Amino acid sequence: MFTLAPLPYDYDALSPTLSATTLRLHHDKHHATYVKTLNNLLADKKESPRNLEDVIRSNADNGNAKLFNNAAQAWNHAFFWQSMSPTRHAPDGEISALIKSAFGDLESLREAFVEAGADHFGSGWVWLTTERGETLNVIATHDAKDTVPEASVTPLLVCDLWEHAYYLDYQNERKRYLEAWFDALSNWSFATSQLSAARSGGDSWRYPAPDSAARAA
Ligand code: FE
Repeated sequence: MFTLAPLPYDYDALSPTLSATTLRLHHDKHHATYVKTLNNLLADKKESPRNLEDVIRSNADNGNAKLFNNAAQAWNHAFFWQSMSPTRHAPDGEISALIKSAFGDLESLREAFVEAGADHFGSGWVWLTTERGETLNVIATHDAKDTVPEASVTPLLVCDLWEHAYYLDYQNERKRYLEAWFDALSNWSFATSQLSAARSGGDSWRYPAPDSAARAA
């Protein structure tokens, strides 16, 4: 059984950029439902995987689409909570140097990130990723899709583009949500730890494993 990864801050910690109502619904209803459905599907198949990443990898592409969607959405949301911080912390050190070489400056990265998210058709996610810590890319993925199955790609940040993520606070203004998200919530200390892991070949962020998560709960 996978447990619902907890929010790493209070429901109102990201207000006014994201309201407590949005966070409560998003975490306690949307995210919780993905985790519950994932556990039900695994129970039906009598499977008890060691970690969530394996479930995502083995069901991507030609695997079980329903299992993939719920596993990846469980993972993506937990990664999204980590991608936000109530405390501002500008990118510095090695990530700042990489932003400069890949995009010129932070403002240009912001433009690319907001544009990729605003232009994305339908539901999905906009990511800042690196390949082995050598490059930086902004990509958008559809629905539940993520970069977990791609061994050479490490995500640094993600922003949720599904309407449930912003509609109560921004209605149809996805671009304004993305701008506010990037300026006020993006967690550069988390992005830096992901980049360091990609460069050193160390462990990047993982979803809480079923056993340890159960003990923690
Ligand atoms: Fe969501």
